Amino acid sequence: MFTKIRWRLLLSYLTVFTSILVIFAAGVRLLFARSLTHQLTDRLTALGQGAATNAEFENGRLKVESDFIVQQLIHKNQGLQWFDTNGNSVLQQGNIVLNLPFSPSINPMQFKTEKLSILAVILPIIGSDNGKIIGYVRVSQSLEELDETLTKLDWVLGSSIIIALILSGFSGVILTRQAMQPIEESFQRLKQFTADASHELRSPLMAIKSNAAVALKYPEQMRKSDTEKFQAIVSAANQMTRLTEDLLLLARAEKNCEVRESSVNLSAILSDLLSLYQPEACAKKIDFKSEIDGDMYLLGNAGQLTRLFANLMENALHYTLSGGTVEVTANSVSSYLIVRVRDTGAGIAPEHIKLVFERFWRADKSRSYWAGGSGLGLAIAQTIAQNHGGSITLTSQVGVGSCFTVRLPSVKVSDRSEY
Ligand code: ADP
Repeated sequence: MFTKIRWRLLLSYLTVFTSILVIFAAGVRLLFARSLTHQLTDRLTALGQGAATNAEFENGRLKVESDFIVQQLIHKNQGLQWFDTNGNSVLQQGNIVLNLPFSPSINPMQFKTEKLSILAVILPIIGSDNGKIIGYVRVSQSLEELDETLTKLDWVLGSSIIIALILSGFSGVILTRQAMQPIEESFQRLKQFTADASHELRSPLMAIKSNAAVALKYPEQMRKSDTEKFQAIVSAANQMTRLTEDLLLLARAEKNCEVRESSVNLSAILSDLLSLYQPEACAKKIDFKSEIDGDMYLLGNAGQLTRLFANLMENALHYTLSGGTVEVTANSVSSYLIVRVRDTGAGIAPEHIKLVFERFWRADKSRSYWAGGSGLGLAIAQTIAQNHGGSITLTSQVGVGSCFTVRLPSVKVSDRSEY
C-alpha cells in the first residue's frame, strides 16, 4: 500500500516539476528567439540605411551611386533590393533576392520559402534636395543561422530538462521514502495496537459470554425480564467476539503478506464450504448450485482461503431472498484459478461497488448487524486474495444480483507438495 502511495507521490512531484521546467524552457526560448530577431532587424536596418544614403533621384529615375560596392558590405546570406516609389525593382545585390511583391506596409516581414526562412526590412529612401520619399530599399537575410542557434538552444534546454528530471527522480525516491517512513511506522504501530487490543479483548469477552451462558442455564430461577437481559448480553458478546476476531484476522493477514507456504486443494475447500452452507440455503429456500472443477491447487494458507470464500458465500446467502439462486463456479484458466460467487440478491448500487471492500462499510447499516455482521468481511476477503497474489472483483446490479470473482494463481498438480 505504501509503495503505491510513494510511487504516486513521486509521479505527482515529477509531473509538477516537468510542467514547471517545460514552461520555464519555453519562456527562455521565446525570449531568446525574440532578442535574436531584434538584433538581426537592427543589423538589417543599419545596412538598409547605408544603402538608402547611396541612392539618388536623377532624370526621373532612382540611381544607386556607382562607388557604393554593396557586395563587400553584405553577408553571403543577405540581399539588397532598391525600388522606385511605384514598387518597381530598380537594382538588386546579394544572394538572397526575393521574388516577392513589394509591400512596405508589413515591416519587418518574416516568411518562408520552400527551402528558407527569411527576414526582410524595408526602408524609405529620402531625397536629399526635397526631403521626399524617392524610393525604397529592402534588405533580406535568410534565418538559417538563427534557426541553427535556436536548434542548439532546444538541444541544450531539452537535455537539461532530462538531466534535471533524472536527478530529481532519484532524489524524489529518497525524499518520498524519508517522508513516508514516520507515517509507515505509525501505521504499523496502529496495526499492532489493533491486533494486540483484539487479542486482549478475547479473554474478557469469553468470560462475559460464559458467565451469561451459565446464568441462562437456569432460566426458571430468574425473572423473565432478567433472562432477556442476559440473552442480550450473550448476543452483544457474540457480536463483539466476531468483531475482534475479524480485526485480529485482518491485522494478521496484513502482517503476513507472504502466505504461499504450502499447496492447498481449492476444490476441497470449496466443496466443504458448499456442504456447510447447504442447510442454511435449504432453510431459506435458496437454490444453492455449484460447478467446481476437481484438483485445483494453489500455494497458500488453507485457513485464510476458507475464510475468504466463507465470507462470499455467507454474504450471497444473506443478501438473497427466499426463492433466489446462489451459484458457485470454479475453474482454472491458463495459470489462474477463477472462482465466481453469483447471487440473485439485492445487488449493489454502482456508486457503492468501490466502497464494499472498505473496512466497516455497509450499504445499509441497520440491516447489516445480522448475526454479528461487522462490515469487515469483504475487506478481509480482499486482503487474503491479495496476499495470495490474486484479486477480487465485483459486478452487480441493484435488484438483479451480484457476482464476486476471485482470481488466484494456480500451481500445476505435478508441482504441488501435500499439505
Ligand atoms: P458485512 O459484515 O456487513 O456483510 P461485508 O464486508 O461482508 O460486511 O460486506 C460489506 C457490505 O457489502 C455489506 O454490508 C452489504 O451492504 C454489501 N454486500 C456484500 N455482499 C453482498 C451481496 N452478495 N449482495 C448485496 N450486497 C452485498
